[in-house]
Amino acid sequence: MSRSEIPLGPPEITAADIEAVTRVLATTRLSRGPAEARFERRVATVAGVRHAIAVNSGTTGLQLALTALDIGPGDEVITTPYSFVASANALLHVGATPVFVDIDPRSLNIDPAAVEDAVTPRTRAILPVHIYGRCAAMPALRSIADRAGLTIVEDACEAIGSCIGGRRAGGWGDVAVLSFYPNKQITTGEGGVITTDREGIARRLDLLRNQGRVPSADGFDQVALGYSARLPEMSCALGASQIERLDEVIERRAAIVDAYRERLEGIEEVLLPAPAGDNETISWFVYVVLLRQGPGGADRDRLMQQLAADGIETARYFLPIHLQPLYRERFGYRRGSFPIAESVGERALALPFFNRLTLAQMDRVCESLRTHVRSL
Ligand SMILES: *Cc1c(COP(=O)(O)O)cnc(C)c1O
Repeated sequence: MSRSEIPLGPPEITAADIEAVTRVLATTRLSRGPAEARFERRVATVAGVRHAIAVNSGTTGLQLALTALDIGPGDEVITTPYSFVASANALLHVGATPVFVDIDPRSLNIDPAAVEDAVTPRTRAILPVHIYGRCAAMPALRSIADRAGLTIVEDACEAIGSCIGGRRAGGWGDVAVLSFYPNKQITTGEGGVITTDREGIARRLDLLRNQGRVPSADGFDQVALGYSARLPEMSCALGASQIERLDEVIERRAAIVDAYRERLEGIEEVLLPAPAGDNETISWFVYVVLLRQGPGGADRDRLMQQLAADGIETARYFLPIHLQPLYRERFGYRRGSFPIAESVGERALALPFFNRLTLAQMDRVCESLRTHVRSL
């Protein structure tokens, strides 16, 4: 019997989304229009901040945020090795030095005690990532930053709508960035939004994304060296349409997490993601299980092949950044540098996870996982 494939995490595009984008296409205003302003207002509200600046990707957002804060050569920024490469790449792009510290094995986020130990006179900022949608220990990181006079650049790219200590993801950093890549909770195709409460920084970011020009009597004055990093109206309209149902999306994804837990709880070989703690809500980005007792990358990869043969798409999230060839060569990192991140990276397996995942599909994923994991 041939059975249909179960994809990893396709975006959900509704009729309302298509209509919103189509409406833009029927106008002549394809950049810098009303959809941009509308989308930015909605993202600012969700993050609980005053300013939001839409840009053409989350990665660009991180680079512009660092640039607006004058973080660059000679500056150390403490960050996590367990992330999508963009969070550390942004630091390389501005010439700052990423200082990795290991993660907490339960949350998979940067460990505040390790952050505290890594502060030096050259440290300028902390760049925490809310991995898989679970907020980093922001109350602790905020107090470390305040004590040491550091800036926080918050990579909230995986965590729109998440919350910790009564504050939203995107609202903890001096500057924060959200991403709307197609595999995120909601999407603009490509896109990112920078959030901040700091008025001066918001103004700089608005300049930087648009060539560094400001409107003037003669048309435009070039006042800074900026970039071409705007987000098109079609993307903004899609984002504004998608964000209307964010609460529903977050709820649906939490229900899928619960349903996975019910089905997988009895399988000793896999460790499930920890449920949300008392002071947090999680807007789940992906669903990642850890294979127990470190059978090693090869076995995880064999399991992935077996699942693929059953028509189930999975992914390795993430190979730690410090082990990427670029980082090994440039900074001399090697296996053993950050043992927790490395162990997690070898055992992590992302299962299909998207709004329209059905119970029947979940049953198939769990049955296949149960069968194959026991014969590893
Ligand atoms: C998705 C993501 C980004 C940004 O990705 P873009 O594709 O540039 O929008 C940055 N950091 C993390 C941790 C991410 O998951």
